[in-house]
Amino acid sequence: MKAFKPHLQGLPSYPYKKVEAPIKLDQNESPYDLPAELKQRVLERLQNLQFNRYPHLHAEDVRERLSAHLGWPMEGLVVSPGSNLLIQALALAAGQVLDTAPSFPHYALSAKLADTPYRAISLGPGFDLPTGALLKAMEAEPGVLFLPNPHAPTARLFAEEDLRLLAEKAAQTGWLLVLDEAYHQFSGTDYSPLARANPNVAILRTFSKAWGLGGIRAGYLLASPEVASVVQNFVPPFGLPAHTAQILLTVLEAPGYVQGIVQSLLAEREKLFRALQQHPTWQVYPSQTNFLLIRTPDAAAAYSGLLRQGILVRRQDHYPGLEGCIRVSLGTPQENQRFLQAAFALTEVPHA
Ligand SMILES: *Cc1c(COP(=O)(O)O)cnc(C)c1O
Repeated sequence: MKAFKPHLQGLPSYPYKKVEAPIKLDQNESPYDLPAELKQRVLERLQNLQFNRYPHLHAEDVRERLSAHLGWPMEGLVVSPGSNLLIQALALAAGQVLDTAPSFPHYALSAKLADTPYRAISLGPGFDLPTGALLKAMEAEPGVLFLPNPHAPTARLFAEEDLRLLAEKAAQTGWLLVLDEAYHQFSGTDYSPLARANPNVAILRTFSKAWGLGGIRAGYLLASPEVASVVQNFVPPFGLPAHTAQILLTVLEAPGYVQGIVQSLLAEREKLFRALQQHPTWQVYPSQTNFLLIRTPDAAAAYSGLLRQGILVRRQDHYPGLEGCIRVSLGTPQENQRFLQAAFALTEVPHA
């Protein structure tokens, strides 16, 4: 197609394929839907919503609430339908993109889509942050460094000292360090104070995981007013749908339910981790997220063996350094129990 820019030819697409299974542990979603009374409140709000009217230009209603909820100035907040859109915006705006490998695939895809120079530095042994190499890479022309913390897909949390070094370097060199806190409720960490103290740091958050709103599509950026206004320009006007806004306003009025869900998922994580440590052929990695990364002798066999037993997980063995790995999201206690049974049964039945 000659109408399009040449770099768009043969662009890889997001690595996801929909598969149906009774137990779905493949997308790091919350296993719990929104509590019934909140859903009821949402429905009442939608009943009163005028569908013929445009929503706010830049989600001012949601940003005002969010600003109060987080204690973050509204001018430094961008809300969009999914944080993935904000990643795309940042990759489009960036002079270059710096990433770790393996990493959340949307950073690399967004850089390619934007035709922004891209470089990834491999994690060290034990998935350690390659701090020295990242600092060195930040001596080149400034750009955006995407860093999920806790990290995906490795599930580990990086040391505060290393993040401080990267943040200082960003301030000296003009880079923007974007800490993607998609999973921060599961690590109990919050680097927004670092971003508050340093305008070369920004924070990405999502409603898709701990908030249990994966289907709603909403995420946000916490940044300096200067960074936020550039990113805001990439979100189309009236870009956050009115119904999404009503749902967000409702949960921001009653955010207390999240803590209970996080607590129960953390207890499940501990239980699953301990149980999997007894697995004869699998190696489970410590997790600070709502998923477990597991190294198996053969990811394809583990994936299909689990699927035969009704359990859908995600293969991760296409990533460099993650040979044999699968990823399993934390489910309900019943789902996790079924997963464990299936995981241990696998070793008893040799696969064809
Ligand atoms: C799940 C996830 C997101 C969320 O993306 P949304 O578009 O908000 O659903 C962002 N970053 C990482 C690392 C994730 O795992």
